[in-house]
Amino acid sequence: MNRELHNLTLLENEPLARYTSWRIGGPARYFATATSADDLRDLLQWAAGESLPVFILGGGTNILVADGGYPGLVIRNRATQHRIEEHGADIRLWIESGAPTAGTARRLSAQGYGGLVWAEGLPGTIGGAVFGNAGCYGDDMAHDLIRAWVLRDGNVEEWSAAQFEYGYRTSALKRLIGQDQAIPDVILAAEIRLHRDDPARLAAEMAAIAESRKSKTPSGSSCGSVFKNPEGTTSGKLLDQAGLKGTQVGNAIVSEKHANYIVNLGGATASDVLRLTDVMRERVLATFGVELELEVQVVGEQV
Ligand SMILES: Cc1cc2nc3c(=O)[nH]c(=O)nc-3n(C[C@H](O)[C@H](O)[C@H](O)COP(=O)(O)OP(=O)(O)OC[C@H]3O[C@@H](n4cnc5c(N)ncnc54)[C@H](O)[C@@H]3O)c2cc1C
Repeated sequence: MNRELHNLTLLENEPLARYTSWRIGGPARYFATATSADDLRDLLQWAAGESLPVFILGGGTNILVADGGYPGLVIRNRATQHRIEEHGADIRLWIESGAPTAGTARRLSAQGYGGLVWAEGLPGTIGGAVFGNAGCYGDDMAHDLIRAWVLRDGNVEEWSAAQFEYGYRTSALKRLIGQDQAIPDVILAAEIRLHRDDPARLAAEMAAIAESRKSKTPSGSSCGSVFKNPEGTTSGKLLDQAGLKGTQVGNAIVSEKHANYIVNLGGATASDVLRLTDVMRERVLATFGVELELEVQVVGEQV
């Protein structure tokens, strides 16, 4: 059954698998798509009134949704406005958090703006990248973010990059996961540093990154790297050396191409993935004495 809220449609028991890059996960009790900051605010207000927990979904490329789904409201963020402010050499991108990261990087470089080139091929949204300090190819969000606007307890706060207290794939907001915060803080928009560059040079740099990504990324449904890299090495190397490539639980398999990727062969469940991550973690601990930490976030209730 669907419900209407202002101009927004609230879907009930909407399966979440289709909104995640792993194609895994049970239903959300309520689900809505926001295309503006006002939508986000309205939906949060409604959920607070109904005493429902809220999960903000970007591209769904860094989460594992539990088989039991999510017991509250999932808001898919598709607010994508942006503008460029240029004052001499000071060039800034203001962009809403639901904009796609890689698509934005590509569009900007075609217009002769460098700054986000490293994000070529990086799945997900600007909000997800700011939240988790996404990074690759020698750069990350912590380096490029100037400030962001965060909706917290009904008020919009301006946060400097320093306030995010960024670390490797983490931030002050990400560290709140697991704490009792029914209504989460929502990144509404970000301001990112850009510079002028030659579009042809930028295109060549992006083509090289795209080629490198293609050579390393397994095909099929995944969430990218499952574990964070430990100090001084990579999880992929440890998992490979511990002989985990090709290890399978149910329909989830450790990729032969990249041992830190778990690929859904079709119909894998969150429980398959979690049992497989246990096997991976235990084997690496037994072999190298290193404890791997999940990079991907588990969302919702396991059944
Ligand atoms: C094939 C593949 C390759 C990848 N390669 C890389 C890589 O090279 N480097 C890297 O860092 N990551 C990589 N990733 C992981 C992923 O792309 C990034 O972490 C991405 O930034 C996640 O963004 P998202 O919008 O999909 O977030 P989601 O997965 O939707 O959400 C992740 C978290 O961010 C929160 N969130 C999202 N938007 C907001 C918002 N507006 N306000 C508050 N919280 C928010 C969510 O609530 C959730 O807690 C890869 C993933 C895949 C599938």
